[in-house]
Amino acid sequence: MVQDKALREGEVTVETPKASDAGLIFIGRIRTPWTSREDTPRQGRHDGPVCRLEIFEPWVPALKGVDFYSNLEVIYWLHRSRRDLVLQSPKDNRSTRGTFSLRSPVRPNPIGTSIVKLVKLEGNIVFVRGLDCLDETPLLDVKPDRCEFSPLAAGKGGGEEGE
Ligand code: SAM
Repeated sequence: MVQDKALREGEVTVETPKASDAGLIFIGRIRTPWTSREDTPRQGRHDGPVCRLEIFEPWVPALKGVDFYSNLEVIYWLHRSRRDLVLQSPKDNRSTRGTFSLRSPVRPNPIGTSIVKLVKLEGNIVFVRGLDCLDETPLLDVKPDRCEFSPLAAGKGGGEEGE
C-alpha cells in the first residue's frame, strides 16, 4: 500500500484486517492536471479544468448513452491513500474526528465520488469538469447523477428504466 500521508498529532491508526476481496475492477483511469495531493482541490468544481475519463476495453461499449446526461457521478479509487486511520486531524491542530465523519481520502476503502459536468464524449474518452483526484487515479464506475432521471433531450431514450 502506498502511504503518502504521515501521521499527525492525535491521529490513531489500527491494524488493518486482511482484505475480504470485493473483486473490484478498474474500468479505466482518470487523467487530471494534478500530480501532487497538495495541489489537488479538496472537492472538484464545475468551473474547474477539463479532465478525462479514459475507459479501458472491454468496457467502452458501456459508454453508450452517457452523453444523454449533463451531470455524471464518477467513482474512483484513491490509490495513494493510507487505509488504517480511525481518528484524523484534518487541520493538523490536535483536534481529531472519526474517519466516517469526514470526506477525507484516508479511509479503509479509499473510494472517492464526484458529481461532474459532462463536456463531451469522444470514443473511449469522457471529458468532464469537476474532479479532485490525482492524475492516473483508477476509475471504478460512471453513472448518471441520481437527480437526473430524465435525459437532456426528450425522446432520445434512457430515462427511469435505466435506474
Ligand atoms: N470528491 C471525493 C469525495 O468527496 O469522495 C474526494 C474528496 S478528497 C477530500 C480529495 C483529496 O484527495 C484531494 O485534495 C487529494 O488530497 C486527495 N487525493 C486525490 N486523488 C488521490 C489519490 N489518487 N490517492 C490519494 N489521495 C488522493
